[in-house]
Amino acid sequence: MEVDAPGEHPGDTPDDDSPKEACGVFGVYAPGHAVAQLTYLGLYALQHRGQESAGMAVSDGDTITVVKDMGLVSHVFDNRTLAPLQGHLAVGHVRYSTTGASTWGNAQPIYRETGDAGFVLGHNGNLTNTAALVESAGILPGTVSSDSDAVAELIQQAMIAAEPGARSDGRDLERALLEVLPRLEGAFSLVLMDDSHVVGVRDPNGFRPLCLGRLDNGWVLSSETTGLDIVGAHFVRELDPGEVVVIDATGTRSLRPFDASQIDPKLCLFEFVYFARPDSRLYGQTVHTARQRMGESLAEQAPLLPDPTGQDREAMVMPVPESGIPAAEGYARRSGIPFGQGLVRNRYINRTFIAPGQDQRTQKVRMKFNPIRENIVGKRLVVIDDSIVRGTSTRAVVAMLREAGAAEIHLRISSPPYRWPCFFGMDTGTRGELIAANLTVPEIRDYLGCDTLAYLDLDRLVTATGVASRGFCTACLTGNYPVPVPLRRVDDEELPSVDLVHPSG
Ligand code: SF4
Repeated sequence: MEVDAPGEHPGDTPDDDSPKEACGVFGVYAPGHAVAQLTYLGLYALQHRGQESAGMAVSDGDTITVVKDMGLVSHVFDNRTLAPLQGHLAVGHVRYSTTGASTWGNAQPIYRETGDAGFVLGHNGNLTNTAALVESAGILPGTVSSDSDAVAELIQQAMIAAEPGARSDGRDLERALLEVLPRLEGAFSLVLMDDSHVVGVRDPNGFRPLCLGRLDNGWVLSSETTGLDIVGAHFVRELDPGEVVVIDATGTRSLRPFDASQIDPKLCLFEFVYFARPDSRLYGQTVHTARQRMGESLAEQAPLLPDPTGQDREAMVMPVPESGIPAAEGYARRSGIPFGQGLVRNRYINRTFIAPGQDQRTQKVRMKFNPIRENIVGKRLVVIDDSIVRGTSTRAVVAMLREAGAAEIHLRISSPPYRWPCFFGMDTGTRGELIAANLTVPEIRDYLGCDTLAYLDLDRLVTATGVASRGFCTACLTGNYPVPVPLRRVDDEELPSVDLVHPSG
């Protein structure tokens, strides 16, 4: 399936040049707790993972009720919608579409009726074999509208085929999962629920995070630990790649439906760089601290050289807010150059913004950022950002800083050049839209209009996570995809090798 073109998502901020995450999932089994309210809070803490739609399903052990709609969590739910959602188990989802259109019909959780036992599903990630799955299962064209929908369809088929007309013994969903999951390829962190079980699933590569937490008299599943923190749950552990955790009145059980040869941990490295909230923990590391270490390492690898004019003009390390802040703090700490704010970000820009006038790109960036001239004028700026995808926004930021009086602009990026599209749940558009897939680093520097440009080396980035011994997906940086991907979307031609440009370059 084609990835939607950048900028077509209603949740995008104007001219947003950042990679986009593709959903967050949450689940809770907690008798005696207000599970709908807990799910609301959990989704609120995962809102950064998807802003197009939000939804939840609640069961009282008998009836499953689903509420979902387009928009932010706080738009979809309020006291009036939450009040009737009574029960002791629930799952929730926030969505950013990387496959399937951004429509109400694709909002999740997805509900499927199976006679005696309906179920719901929420998915974070992208499958890479959807077309083959649909074909092999004989699913008619137009029946499913996304990879997540295809998974739900397969599970429904398996449940119905298992014991047609028989009464449920309560394990129908579990059995169907054991049959269907080994056929899926790609990235899938799932939460599922029938009337009396909550289930968490992590694919054999563990591309997307999923963790388990403990409440008094209950259990919580969340894409990130921030979803546990907000409901007062204690972190228990991350689900293992390839693990299925079933939660019900008897507690938790682990199933391992995948062949051992399939298990190969490859957590998305960009969860550390950009996606995950800084206060989340991944592989036991706090993301904010890891991002600071990336900045420190960047300062070692690509320092600001002495003023070429010999005038020793004042220098300042500044982030592109908000995502560049931790790495900028680390760069400043390691380099000894003062940290300062050079740009203010308008936090209230949203989908309703329409850029008037001729030069829409510049106008859009001006709506998003405004320079603090007093902090910038005459200074040699070291500007820190976490990634450059298409480069359009970064170019406008550089121009804005020059206009505001910066003496020099030295751009430092806390990840390597992003040269290959992601097939595992991040939206960057096609390879043709990735600036580093088409230009060398000196060419990118010239396009952006900065004085120097340097990207953090991959080895340094992995070391900065603090867990270099753990498995990571680095496909968008290296082209080494951990699982087969649809080749029609990856050009076969060799790219020119990318030479990192250091400040002397
Ligand atoms: S290709 Fe890049 S963004 Fe996608 S999962 Fe791998 S590391 Fe993450």
